[in-house]
Amino acid sequence: MASASTATDETSEEPTEEESALETARRQLQHAADHLDIDQNIVERLKHPKKVHEVTVPIERENGDVEVYTGYRAQHDSVRGPYKGGLRYHPEVTREECVGLGMWMTWKCAVMDIPFGGAKGGIAVNPKDLTDDEKEQLTRRFTDEIRAVIGPTKDIPAPDMGTDPQTMAWLMDAYSMQEGETIPGVVTGKPPIVGGSKGRDGAPGRSVAIIAREAIDYYGKDIKEADVAIQGYGSVGSNAARLLDDWGANVVAVSDVNGGVYDANGLDTHSIPSHHEEPEAVMDHGAPETVSNEELLELDVDLMIPAAIGNVLTADNADDIAADIIIEGANGPTTTTASAIFAEREIPVVPDILANAGGVTVSYFEWLQDINRRSWSLERVNDELETEMLTAWQDVREEFEARDVTWRDAAYIVALSRISDAHEARGLWP
Ligand code: GLU
Repeated sequence: MASASTATDETSEEPTEEESALETARRQLQHAADHLDIDQNIVERLKHPKKVHEVTVPIERENGDVEVYTGYRAQHDSVRGPYKGGLRYHPEVTREECVGLGMWMTWKCAVMDIPFGGAKGGIAVNPKDLTDDEKEQLTRRFTDEIRAVIGPTKDIPAPDMGTDPQTMAWLMDAYSMQEGETIPGVVTGKPPIVGGSKGRDGAPGRSVAIIAREAIDYYGKDIKEADVAIQGYGSVGSNAARLLDDWGANVVAVSDVNGGVYDANGLDTHSIPSHHEEPEAVMDHGAPETVSNEELLELDVDLMIPAAIGNVLTADNADDIAADIIIEGANGPTTTTASAIFAEREIPVVPDILANAGGVTVSYFEWLQDINRRSWSLERVNDELETEMLTAWQDVREEFEARDVTWRDAAYIVALSRISDAHEARGLWP
């Protein structure tokens, strides 16, 4: 989880390791902009969100007490289409964090060339403290508070940390009831029975696996001989691990919040329960060795995938990372200082905005299915996702090779060029 720091001095030369998502996002933006001949006014504009909505969300707890939570929806940029991005329920959600994560969504949609802008929202709450009924109340009330600023052509939320398809179904229902008609396109990541897309759940992990496979190949390795370590066994980590395992990779270590299991001969990833199947059960899986989350990140493997929380690769451990390639499964796992150390050490880091963009890409497919009232087969979803990921990989690879920059800069250059061209074409109004 990114820190809740409120400092936003993006020009500071010495970033502290308590870097907020917003600070990281702004530094990354400026870094990429320095490689491009784009109007600095556009860059300046993109360092700030268009709007941030802050609401209070009161609910009556089961003991009869009323508790008031704070919810946000940060809308960053919509030059390429409606705002798009997740909603997270987590105690450390802040305004700044939503803005930083919303910026990443703008780049993510642009790097994938899907016609959406970027947003992120959330409620500062620990969902584990709430019953299902309380979560439902919270979601319905929050939806009502932000109803005027969301919608299928305005801003389309989706699941993120602490929210799931059920949360999205409540949101869709609350919105539809108030509007007087069923409007599935207001939100993505819903259960398929109410307009969700097949394959949406597994999509972020699938895209991480596809990009990992391409990166392994790019660096001249054979996937069948690649040792892989994955931090996090939620939707992203477990789906990426199982696909890479199916494609012949040797997944030697996976972890959850309590720590990880290690087997030099490769784990049976399908028999280790994902967070969704059985929370926090990774350590119960019989394996020759266990590792802490810190040790897992430092394993000498071909590929390491941080797929849990933000800010895990920092100045403190970047010199000790022994992996040959890093693929970012989580949003923002690498701090600015760690990124610089990896660049210096020539360890390629394929960024989150490309690697885990399968989630928002299948969200786009879901939105298309909703507005066309026509559902796609799982096979079609996975085929089209594969095509989109390979196209984006190719676009980023071309910049990577042509400009001799990091993978992160290359992805930002692709995204930023598309966004700034759109801003130029539309111009300023009035
Ligand atoms: N929360 C996801 C992300 O960070 C998905 C967003 C979406 O599908 O709109 O990419």
